[in-house]
Amino acid sequence: MKNDFSRRDFLKISGLLPFSFLAPNLAKNLGIRAPQTKKNVIIIVFDAWSAYNVSLYGYARDTTPTINKLAERAVVYHNHYAASNYTTPGTASILTGTLPWTHRAMQPNTTVSSEYLDRSIFSVFNDYHRMSYSHNEWVNTLFDGFRSNIDEWIPRLDLCLFSSYKVIQDIFKNDRDISSVAWERYAEFKKDDFSYSLFLSRLLSYFEGKEVERYYDQFPRGLPTSYTDNGFLLEHAVDQLVSRLGELTKPMLGYFHFLPPHEPYRPPVEFSGRFFRDAYQNILKPADIFMEPGGDFDIRKQRAIYDEYILYVDREFGRLYRELESSGILEDTWLVLTSDHGEGFERGYIGHQVNAIYEPLIRVPLMIFEPGRQSRLDVYEKTSAIDLLSTLAHVTGKDVPEWSEGEVLPPYRQQSELPERGIYSMRSYETEKDSPVKSASIGFVKGRYKLHYYFGYSILNSQKLIKLYDIESDPEELSNIVDMEPEIARQMVEQVEYSIEQVNKRYL
Ligand SMILES: [Zn+2]
Repeated sequence: MKNDFSRRDFLKISGLLPFSFLAPNLAKNLGIRAPQTKKNVIIIVFDAWSAYNVSLYGYARDTTPTINKLAERAVVYHNHYAASNYTTPGTASILTGTLPWTHRAMQPNTTVSSEYLDRSIFSVFNDYHRMSYSHNEWVNTLFDGFRSNIDEWIPRLDLCLFSSYKVIQDIFKNDRDISSVAWERYAEFKKDDFSYSLFLSRLLSYFEGKEVERYYDQFPRGLPTSYTDNGFLLEHAVDQLVSRLGELTKPMLGYFHFLPPHEPYRPPVEFSGRFFRDAYQNILKPADIFMEPGGDFDIRKQRAIYDEYILYVDREFGRLYRELESSGILEDTWLVLTSDHGEGFERGYIGHQVNAIYEPLIRVPLMIFEPGRQSRLDVYEKTSAIDLLSTLAHVTGKDVPEWSEGEVLPPYRQQSELPERGIYSMRSYETEKDSPVKSASIGFVKGRYKLHYYFGYSILNSQKLIKLYDIESDPEELSNIVDMEPEIARQMVEQVEYSIEQVNKRYL
């Protein structure tokens, strides 16, 4: 842990640091007052929440009226990229500050490599009370890997409604695989059903039904669920968390990962149908090579329901914020709001189970509510999910670990501009922990350009597929300019291939 009085403080007193480095809390560090108490860190992740569908970032539908107001006291990041387009690698990158090909949790429902089990945000904040919660079972699998560094891992079903699942899990306490496998089967096949012993399941479903039917009027599309629970309400999760946080006295680090607006999209009645007949027009885009064969879903309708589900996220985050504020926790807390990956409704696909890497799938919200901040700051620099760990370590006075691959985000780092760097986001669903990356979809953003680099897929007959977009003039990625800008494409391809080569060296 860092001393309260550092070399930097000494320089500040001596007047050797420029004025801009003087923090308002300096007086506290000089011994005039008691040393500054450690600030809490709370990270709130809403799963599969694309920045593309957020009105704060310019979406035509007003999906985030509450968050738009709260943003007046936040640092708002406009070009923030998840490190993947699905949960396991995207979340592991937030938690470890490293890219998927480094932490190696690239396959669904896996943990990071043994090397990274003790290299996470939980190990960095080892002098804090470290808490975690997730509705998403795959995130719980990651927590399982990090568990020796987590003080309080709230069981997933504790914030869900009464569930036979919970009963089963209580009976088989040591077998967490039951639920994670079910979630995996859901994500893989979507239609698979799941049942326990016939007698037990009928008995339990009677009680479940009683509990759940109380909410039918509030959720006309059914209760929010991950399909491996009996449903949950964000309201309950928020209330229970706030009440638990209020009981804690130590500085705390909390990582809380809620499932909405992840599918199934189930907005409460007050938002249901809100966007059904509005003037919003989908931008027509050509079908992608990776679209699901035979997909005949109604993209327009599903997008509208997803957007309504974001209204639920918006309302409940607003409530969480106000609860933290009124309980006094907020003023001592770095509160982070973000997502693990995006969601897409275009080019023939819905959701994020696709090998494509377009902007709606990887660009996610990021807002940092800094203790005491009263004004809004907009950051347009391109930033990455791997930057969060370095940033939170830095702002709480810790050394940024050397193994983290991220940067300290503006406005918190000392130099205002970094030399232009590339931001990676990747999906490599087939890559095992100890094997080289032989197939992947890689998004590589540098300056105004974004390269799509796909390789190793049978649908491509083992050829590479390369696309280049100018995402500043063409944010919808409609015009592939790989032939118009061959030199830029060549340089970016070279960089991506060099990175893959470096990564793979270790596993050949
Ligand atoms: Zn996810």
